[in-house]
Amino acid sequence: MAIGIEEALAGQLIDIRRHLHAYPELSGEEYETTASIRGWLEREGIRIAAYPLKTGLVAEIGGMREGPVVALRADIDALPIQEETGLPFASRRSGAMHACGHDFHTAALIGAAVLLKRREAELPGTVRLLFQPAEEKAKGAAEVIASGALAGVGAVFGLHNKPDLPVGTIGIRSGPIMAAADGFAVEVDGKGTHAAVPEAGIDPLVTAAHMLTALQSIVSRSVSSLDSAVVSVTRLSAGTSWNVIPELAIFDGTIRTFDEGVRAEVRRRFEQVVNGVAAAFGTTARTRWTGGPPPVVNDARWARTAAKAAAVAGLEVVEPRPSPAGEDFALYLKEAPGAFVFLGTNGPREWHHPAFDVDESALPGAAAYLAAVAAEALAALSAEGAGAGPHAAARAESGDGRAEAGAVT
Ligand SMILES: [Zn+2]
Ligand SMILES: [Zn+2]
Repeated sequence: MAIGIEEALAGQLIDIRRHLHAYPELSGEEYETTASIRGWLEREGIRIAAYPLKTGLVAEIGGMREGPVVALRADIDALPIQEETGLPFASRRSGAMHACGHDFHTAALIGAAVLLKRREAELPGTVRLLFQPAEEKAKGAAEVIASGALAGVGAVFGLHNKPDLPVGTIGIRSGPIMAAADGFAVEVDGKGTHAAVPEAGIDPLVTAAHMLTALQSIVSRSVSSLDSAVVSVTRLSAGTSWNVIPELAIFDGTIRTFDEGVRAEVRRRFEQVVNGVAAAFGTTARTRWTGGPPPVVNDARWARTAAKAAAVAGLEVVEPRPSPAGEDFALYLKEAPGAFVFLGTNGPREWHHPAFDVDESALPGAAAYLAAVAAEALAALSAEGAGAGPHAAARAESGDGRAEAGAVT
């Protein structure tokens, strides 16, 4: 039961992607994008579900008879980047760009919706389509979960375009595929004094400099060579004049890890180094954490289902390297098991580059894959007579406070 895409639909999906690309909207401001998606879905007779979301929307296909629910997710937001592709459909909005390919993801999910709608009568359950806002701020998945849209979902699937994989390939792996993305901000206290009389004060710059150097030993000395982590300090600020030792130094940055145990240990060591170095210099420091999404960890069973769907969609499965970028899809995987995959789009530049682009010829394969993985998962869940994990419904109702995720991806 191969799922094919005819030329006319492929052309429509490219038009949709180009429209979204020309009119990008930033995280949490996707009003026109949401209206466009609604219009495209309604034109296909696809019903919009009533979940309370400010931007983004949820739609459903199937459910003609009692059965499991499978969710497919696409993120819809753009980035605050000035586009430099020179494409005829380049962003018409200054300072906003689809530089992560979420326009591609959205078009792919609309394509999957069209394909699934055609076979709605034979679906043994419901496919819930999550058009998620604000992925780039790691806020949207939490909003979608808080809306209740993950209630009763037996498995959840999503994809991200991957510029370094060729068109026609799909990167699938069991276990971690994207990193936990935590942010930190550290304030180092000093005691202001004349630069010529440092002994009368406490120099927060020298203290911060020692911290920065010592923090770089965490990965090499506290993390096993078989695990991995990144500690990057990306901003350092202190002082106002060449002849004054200031009262405060501030630095911030990010930590990336693929395992919750490693994540906790790196954070513990981070605080130990910051507080220990501060004490050694006779001062104090405070670390404030911005908890980003946890690692994206694929379920082995659903990774196998993804591979089966890839074959149906005519894609070649490859083993991808995990990406140290963060993805709030990870939060869905805390609600229901599933798989997140990398779809080859053979782009000239990495994500978030002003000249980022995708090869649109990958779009039909992406749509076919999403439709196939939903169909395969529904079939598998209905065969076992289960689907609605009771814990998923309970979690969605309790809302469990993970919405504190910050702007770190
Ligand atoms: Zn991104
Ligand atoms: Zn992205």
